[in-house]
Amino acid sequence: MANEITVTFLGTSSAPPQLSRKQSATVVKYKSHTLLYDVGEATQYQMIKHKIKFTKLTIILTHLHSDHTLGLMGLLTTRNFRNIKTPITIIGPEWTSKFISLLFFAYRFKPDFEITIIETSGGIVLENKDFTLESFPLSHSDTSFGYNLVTKPKIGRFNINKAVKLGIPKGELWKKLQNGNSIEIDEKTIHPSAVLDEVEDDSMKITITGDTPFDETTIEHAQNANLLIHDATYPSYEEERAKKYLHSTCVDAAEVAKKAKVKRLIMTHISELHKDLDESLRDAQEIFSNCEFAEDGLKIKLKFKD
Ligand SMILES: [Zn+2]
Ligand SMILES: [Zn+2]
Repeated sequence: MANEITVTFLGTSSAPPQLSRKQSATVVKYKSHTLLYDVGEATQYQMIKHKIKFTKLTIILTHLHSDHTLGLMGLLTTRNFRNIKTPITIIGPEWTSKFISLLFFAYRFKPDFEITIIETSGGIVLENKDFTLESFPLSHSDTSFGYNLVTKPKIGRFNINKAVKLGIPKGELWKKLQNGNSIEIDEKTIHPSAVLDEVEDDSMKITITGDTPFDETTIEHAQNANLLIHDATYPSYEEERAKKYLHSTCVDAAEVAKKAKVKRLIMTHISELHKDLDESLRDAQEIFSNCEFAEDGLKIKLKFKD
């Protein structure tokens, strides 16, 4: 079966409550990883509804506003109640550690599982054999970040002839190269590309902004993304309000998608000021046609080429 990434929108509303939309939370599943971007008020209920496990989670906070973090304590408390011992990683901007320890103090909460907190100020946040997660600063709150998830490209087959020709002795060094690591022989560095067959770069990129006004930084960082998930709090005619409250209109989101040459745009963080979503969608599609509004429960699959 081809590899795929599944994105599930658990909450697609801006901060004030709406009956049809919950506050921000988006889940990205890839291989054995479950990444939860933002944890709005009703996140754990939405996780149960959409069958997202509480066990293996990496939580990524775009910023610390309450409509993106209110569900965090509930979710962590439930892990204690259910006796879930698997460790958890929480990634967020500067102040995330302080923020979480203050919450724990206020609620007299002690987790029965290990928590690793990573504070980002931009750049690579996390890297493993399957993906790289990188953050970039946005101008929404004092510290807000967008995130790029980039999957690692498929590795070509180890070419024994090339290895022998280069005089690399069989054994440990072959293994290192096969795993994508460079080696040193006679003070010369040999990169894996020298002994692996060439394959097409099949890496995928998902850019998630969290709350943001129209921002050139996003255009720069979202270049050629397979999927851009962008703030579209307001309809096109609320441009002034968007600037004032440091959010985007649907047209701003479409402009960013177009300028960043992304393949697909999904707009979220939707306020009730969108009186007619179809009209807002038409406004956005005039600028960037492959776009849609998220709905709570929307699930999309991004498939890799075979
Ligand atoms: Zn928000
Ligand atoms: Zn916010």
